[in-house]
Amino acid sequence: MKVLVADAINEDGIAMLKNEMDVVVNTTISPEELVATIKDFDGIVVRSRTKMTKEVIEAADNLKIIARAGVGVDNIDIDAATENGVMVVNSPESTSITVAEHTMGLLLAMARKIAIADKSVKDNKWEKKKFMGVELRGKTLGVIGMGRIGSQVVNRCKAFEMDAIVYDPYLPDDVAEQMGVRLTDLNTVLKNADFITIHVPLTEETKHSISDEQFDLMKENAFIVNCARGGIIDEEALYTALSENKIGGAALDVYENEPPKDNKLTTLDNIVLTPHIAASTKEAQKGAAIIVAEEIIDLNKG
Ligand code: NAD
Repeated sequence: MKVLVADAINEDGIAMLKNEMDVVVNTTISPEELVATIKDFDGIVVRSRTKMTKEVIEAADNLKIIARAGVGVDNIDIDAATENGVMVVNSPESTSITVAEHTMGLLLAMARKIAIADKSVKDNKWEKKKFMGVELRGKTLGVIGMGRIGSQVVNRCKAFEMDAIVYDPYLPDDVAEQMGVRLTDLNTVLKNADFITIHVPLTEETKHSISDEQFDLMKENAFIVNCARGGIIDEEALYTALSENKIGGAALDVYENEPPKDNKLTTLDNIVLTPHIAASTKEAQKGAAIIVAEEIIDLNKG
């Protein structure tokens, strides 16, 4: 097989591929160059930069596999891949712990006002009274989506002596019981949680599933974090809830538009923002590269 590595991935994954097949690494390849050369390759490794459009896939006469080192396959035209008999693989399990740890970081940053306190000290201020926080201990964590990441967040929150309630209509009761969590409906989570964390995919059903009506149900000191996908929280409604102090605070790693240019949320003090880095650790990126390399090697071996 001949494989193109079109986005930067961890070197260990590239070394594994090079041991088994012909590998070309070109992580600055342009869309035009990709359309012109993709016919020479049997496999391609991408992250999110390279767009595997219908045009690219239809020009890929020999392509057998598109491997996404990471989770989201929004940059791949799955229908075109299916129609052309091209397998698409990704590595969602590689980032679960990393995203769960980032979520913990954001929960603590909200509870203890870490980001804004950091800015204050760097501005030569000493505003101790302004940064009175709350403990996580004894608080109720509301989890929306109890999959790979949600369950890792719950495990970590147990160590902080939090109590978890979960909304996930697709999670069987016995599995929830084994995980030691209480399943309930969304409104009960919204009304009772002190900290809410979202770990669902972005779908028709979840888009803007947290909007004005849902913010109205939350406790006035509730904090909400979204490390899943932009658009699950209605940002306009979030801005209203935060600016009118309907809730205590929020933290986002993902946005309706990325980067969030001229977004009013960036003007608020009661929100912590990170630039879609929840999956960005050395360990997660190495894991992703190794998993996709293994998939391609397996295909090569038949
Ligand atoms: P997963 O598939 O393991 O879990 C998703 C869970 O959501 C499942 O248990 C499913 O039953 C549940 N669910 C689906 N629809 C629901 C709904 N309408 N209401 C409540 N629950 C619902 O996925 P995961 O690996 O845990 O990832 C969760 C999300 O995190 C994904 O959207 C993924 O794209 C995102 N993510 C973000 C980053 C980042 O960099 N910020 C990195 C990795 C993953």
